[in-house]
Amino acid sequence: MAINVDKDKCIGCESCIAVCPTGALTMDAGKAIINQDSCVVCGACISECPVEAISKKEVTREVSNNEGSDIWVMVELEEGKPMGVSFELLSVAQELSKKANEKCCAVLIAGDAGSIPQELIAAGADKVYVVSGAEYADYNNELYTNAFCELANEYKPNAVLFGATVDGRDLAPRVAARLHTGLCADCTALDITDSKIVEWTRPALGGNILATIICDEHRPQMGSVRPKVFKGLEPDASRTGEVVNYQVKNAITPKVTIVKKENLTSGNGIKIEDAEVICCGGRGMGDLDKFKVLEELAALFENSAVAGSRAAVDESWISHVSQVGQSGKTVAPKVYFVLGVSGAIQHLAGMKDADVVIAINKDANAPIFSVAQYGIVGDANVILPKLIAKIKAYKEA
Ligand SMILES: Cc1cc2nc3c(=O)[nH]c(=O)nc-3n(C[C@H](O)[C@H](O)[C@H](O)COP(=O)(O)OP(=O)(O)OC[C@H]3O[C@@H](n4cnc5c(N)ncnc54)[C@H](O)[C@@H]3O)c2cc1C
Repeated sequence: MAINVDKDKCIGCESCIAVCPTGALTMDAGKAIINQDSCVVCGACISECPVEAISKKEVTREVSNNEGSDIWVMVELEEGKPMGVSFELLSVAQELSKKANEKCCAVLIAGDAGSIPQELIAAGADKVYVVSGAEYADYNNELYTNAFCELANEYKPNAVLFGATVDGRDLAPRVAARLHTGLCADCTALDITDSKIVEWTRPALGGNILATIICDEHRPQMGSVRPKVFKGLEPDASRTGEVVNYQVKNAITPKVTIVKKENLTSGNGIKIEDAEVICCGGRGMGDLDKFKVLEELAALFENSAVAGSRAAVDESWISHVSQVGQSGKTVAPKVYFVLGVSGAIQHLAGMKDADVVIAINKDANAPIFSVAQYGIVGDANVILPKLIAKIKAYKEA
């Protein structure tokens, strides 16, 4: 739908201009005119017009850039190496691009690309676009947005996938706004139609439904995916691909400088999304002191971390960086201990891919038991010390 102003009827009273919330209406030669790009079709102007000169009309919009092709993945680096999520995205991008008969491409913006392009090709990329230079050594949203948009305007991708990481969540919406396209955040499944329209599936309405969203009017189609939603491919060193070294033409001087960087990790320095064993507590743990006993359980395993449900985070027993679920992190550990967590759908959304789930809850009907391979019905604060003692005794033996 779009707003239409009938110039023959318009009397130039400017009532519509006063009520437009986005400033989309202006006057031209005594008549109201509308800027369709800033109009949000709220209809406030329709009821305000005293002469019924304004109405809604059906419009068929042209795809703004329908020559786009290829599926791109924005590669994110951590300590100079591609993050796991970049490999996971390459694997799904390869699947989509094969279906669409397009190329799977990686975009690498880095201080020094080194051998990373070859690594990305081994992980599934057919082509790697590289923007490198000392100014790109650390993520800077202005420089990265500028470089990425220049590349996208020049090479015109059909779709772009970003990791829903701290930096990815910052970069993707900036790029989408700059390219005048949409962005579907935190997708959990992706597919592509015969006409190369990406179907982005993500939880909606508080996680109670899965909505499949398309962006058929603008290019590139864009979305973000959290770490651990997909699995990366086994690297294949025999794969070959093209590397395009790109020089940014319109360099900018950023207004933002990075003053300090802090790692968002749990107490022992391991991110929950990287941990192989997670000990997750919920409101049922009772209080902070009881919650802290989970650290003793985690300490018994290599590469482990303590996590919490949103209720535990709300109680300030653990930081939000360690929250599992729809509004927290998606994890896929080998073992997921889950204590005093009910198993609300929003929590399950973040841990359903754990290999083995061991749940302790005093309510035998708690939904968490429906996803657990092992379940203990009882008081977590009584069972947890016994479990820790048993594991310690087992390890000593
Ligand atoms: C849009 C949206 C996003 C959300 N995102 C998330 C998210 O990312 N992550 C998340 O976790 N939640 C999320 N939620 C909240 C979610 O709906 C639940 O409210 C939340 O997961 C409940 O946390 P909980 O299970 O720890 O607490 P509760 O629901 O209060 O459950 C506590 C459980 O502990 C058990 N219990 C109590 N005492 C004991 C005891 N002594 N021993 C053993 N068991 C005991 C109870 O039987 C109960 O099952 C979201 C909600 C919405 C609407």
